[in-house]
Formats: sequence, structure tokens, C-alpha cells
Amino acid sequence: MASQLNNQLHFVLIPLMSPGHQIPMIDMAKLLAIHGIVVTIVTTPQNAINFTSTIQLSVQSGLKIQLLQLQFPATESGLPAGCENMDKLPSRSLIRNFFIAASMLQQQFERVFHTLKPRPSCIISGKNLPWTVETARKFKIPRIFFDAMGCFSFSCSNKLETSRVHENLSKFETFIVPDLPHRIELSQAKLPESLSPDSKDLSDVRDSLRAAETIPDGIVVNTFEELEKEYVTEYIKVKGNNVWCVGPVSASNKLNLDRAERGKKASIDETHLLKWLDMQEPESVIYACLGSICGLTSLQLVELGLGLEASNQPFIWVIRESEKSEGINKWIVDECFEERNKEKGLIIRGWSPQVLILSHKSIGGFLTHCGWNSTLEGVTAGVPIVACPLFAEQFLNEKLVVEVLRIGVSVGVEAAVAWGLEDEVGLLMKREQVKKAIEMVMDEGEEGEERRKRAKEFSCMAERAIEEGGSSYHNMEMLIQYVSSRVESTELLDY
Ligand code: UDP
Repeated sequence: MASQLNNQLHFVLIPLMSPGHQIPMIDMAKLLAIHGIVVTIVTTPQNAINFTSTIQLSVQSGLKIQLLQLQFPATESGLPAGCENMDKLPSRSLIRNFFIAASMLQQQFERVFHTLKPRPSCIISGKNLPWTVETARKFKIPRIFFDAMGCFSFSCSNKLETSRVHENLSKFETFIVPDLPHRIELSQAKLPESLSPDSKDLSDVRDSLRAAETIPDGIVVNTFEELEKEYVTEYIKVKGNNVWCVGPVSASNKLNLDRAERGKKASIDETHLLKWLDMQEPESVIYACLGSICGLTSLQLVELGLGLEASNQPFIWVIRESEKSEGINKWIVDECFEERNKEKGLIIRGWSPQVLILSHKSIGGFLTHCGWNSTLEGVTAGVPIVACPLFAEQFLNEKLVVEVLRIGVSVGVEAAVAWGLEDEVGLLMKREQVKKAIEMVMDEGEEGEERRKRAKEFSCMAERAIEEGGSSYHNMEMLIQYVSSRVESTELLDY
């Protein structure tokens, strides 16, 4: 037998096809490659278009990262042609079809597995891809789960699942999440769909996908220990010892070039953007972006835009391109919003180079939906947060930012929307709330200064964590060591 002992390790990364999963896993691929690992990222042709240039940049800098493209059976699964990413899903009713299509990648992957060189040492896969568990078993390699959600939100959800204190209460009745180091008050209205008794339509899909989370050989978490120490401890208590916090993975993008290319091709010229940012006062600009998949109504976006305008701060407002964006774009033109704010406002329609923007010295606040990646990117940039959660575990992240870390202010959204059903609820926030929260974050008094100071301290900790000698750097080495020892023991058994 040709021994692989001491041979080159090869990690295969399989992210769910959604920006919130793919982007951090590509970041993670770079970090692994910096540690000398050969990395293959499994994707599909439409997705590959978005990150080919990022991968090329990495390859040019000497990192061993490659893409493996599998055909995504969109039309065979009842999806529109080319719909290979959750950010392209036209409606909630097609989520089920999307996961069916994603599960059909298994056979293709297993057919090409033997062509991957050197032989893969492990699979790292994200949420909602349960087939990767079976495939890893089949090829006798460890399967590591990539948790893109953080330890605080996990701890809250876990305590609620086990205590069920949230059940049998009315929607807005508040309760305290039991047994946590901090006093976290929530209502059912703010909980992720998985914990909400009202959300039954996709519960079967959720249950079957959960298999992907329950039986990993180990877990990598995109967080760093210093950020949520007590909750990392709690996470390890529940999940077992093979947990490695390796974040913030976005900090792998050290150069503006990497930051500009991250995710997708930006919908704004980088030079123009940086010139605009350079012209603003330090720490004065509010950057507002609600992530990659939310589909807020035009009425809601109008409130957000008017709130930004009323705050009197310079702002960058990212408006996601979707079937719904026609209404808000028409309003912007009809009401001359862009024209009257042309001195102090920049609108990005489509994809924004978020990490590039957040790292600029003129950014003074980040109005975010509190998706975990965005939250962590705000923390890493040392920018105070204006929390505007919408769905999933975002209200839990808001609690972390506002009440535990105390680096943010809440806009005051009281109830989550179900993803894809944004049209079914009224206004989540009014312009006055947006204005007030921005004013609080930008406040130059003691409270605002203290908040900014704390934000900067966490930013320093984040940077240190992924540098040599830092906690996340060390954890990455531990992960690699674990996989290496598993490869060796499998070979000895096979011998
Ligand atoms: N993102 C970006 N530009 C955009 C929108 C999103 O770069 O215009 C990135 C953002 O930096 C983050 C990811 O997309 O890394 C979104 O993940 P998150 O968990 O914050 O939210 P989701 O989109 O999954 O709701």
C-alpha cells in the first residue's frame, strides 16, 4: 500500500449554496491554505462565476486552493434554470426543491471523489447538507461540521429547546432564557423559526436537514474564544471536545484587493467608492446593509432610507437586487431621494464589498440585520452596530451585540419575519426608530465613547486571534492535527 503518512493533507470544503455559508467557507479555505493545507471547494457553475477571481488571487499568492464544479440539477428539481443559490430563490415555496437539488449533488461528488488528488483527508461541510455525513463515512474520512452561527445564539436556542420556557406563552409575552451567564429576555416573536410553534410549513425539511449537524466528528465555529468565552464553554459542554473556534475568518482578507473581490463582483466601482469614503470625516459614515437574502418590502425600505436621511450622518445604503427591488428603486427616483442626498449618501444597488467598506476609517456605524457573518465582520472592523434583526437567529445576535458585548444599539424591531414571507407583516421599524438608534450610536457623550472603545477592543482581539500565537490560529492547528491523526490511524488500520 502506498502510505499517505506524513503526506500532504487535503481538505474538501462543501458549503451550502448561499452567500452566508459560501463566503465564510472560502475565507476558511484561505486560512487553511495558509496553514499549508491543499483545499478543494465544491461548488456549481453559477456559483463558481462569483468566486473564481477570489480563488485566482489566492492561487497567485501561492495558496493551494482549487474549485470542483458539480452540475446543480435546478430544472430537474423544479427550480428556475440557473437558480443555484438561495439568494436567487424566487419564493419560499421553492426552498424544499432547492434542498432536493442540493442532495442530488451526492452521487456526482462520490463519482469524482477518486479523481481528487491527493486523496481527501476530510470533508468540512456546512448546514443543510446531510448527505456529506454519509459520503464521509463511505470514504472513511472525518466529516467536520462548519458552524456559521456562533456560540451565544446556539446556547440560547439550546437552553430554550431543553427548558421549553417559551412554549405556551403569547407571542409578545417575555421570558428569561434560563441558565445563561447573562440575563437574556426574549419573546416568542423574536425566536428563530425552528423554535416557533407558528412555523410548521418547513418543519419536516428542517428536521431532515438537522442530521447534518448532529453527528460530526468535529466542529469548526466561525467565532473567536475571546468574544463569547462563556458561551464557547457551554457549546463545548453540549457538543463535545472536538470544537475549534477559528474565526473571524473574514480577517483572512488582509488586502483591499481581496476585500473588494469577496463574495461577488461589487456593484460599485472600487476606486469611486474609496474616493467617496476618503472624502468623509473619520468615523462619520453609517453603512447600512441587511445581508444577502432578506426581501423586505418597498414600504419598509422607504422607512429605512428616510431614517438614514433623517440621521444627518453620511451614509452608504445597500439595496439588494431582487424581484422586489423595482418598487424601492422607483421610489428613490420618483421622490428624488438619491438626488437630494447626493452630497452625503451613496446607494449601492446589488452587491456591496462589505468587508472593504467596514475596514475604512470613515465608517462610524454599521446598521445590520445581525446575520452572524455581518455581526462578526462589524466586530472585526471595530465599528459600533445599529442592530436591525429580521429573522433566523438574528435577534439572538442582537442580544449579544447590544446587551452582552455592549457594542451596539437596537433599532427596536419587535417581531421576526419569516424568510420569504416579508410581505405578510406590517412595518418592522419606522424611520424615527432608525434615526434614534443611529443618533445613539454616533453619540459623542460618555456612553457613545465607551461603546466605541469596547468595539475597538474587540476588533484588536479579533485580529490577534487569527495571527500566529492567537487562539483561533492555535485552534486551526489543533484541527489540522486532529485530521492528520485520523488519516494516520485509518492508514494503519487499512495496512
Ligand atoms: N455581503 C456582502 N455584500 C452584500 C451583502 C452581503 O459582502 O451586499 C456578505 C457579508 O459580508 C456576509 C455575507 O454576505 O459575509 C452575509 O452573511 P450574513 O450571515 O451576515 O447574512 P445572510 O446574508 O446570510 O442573511
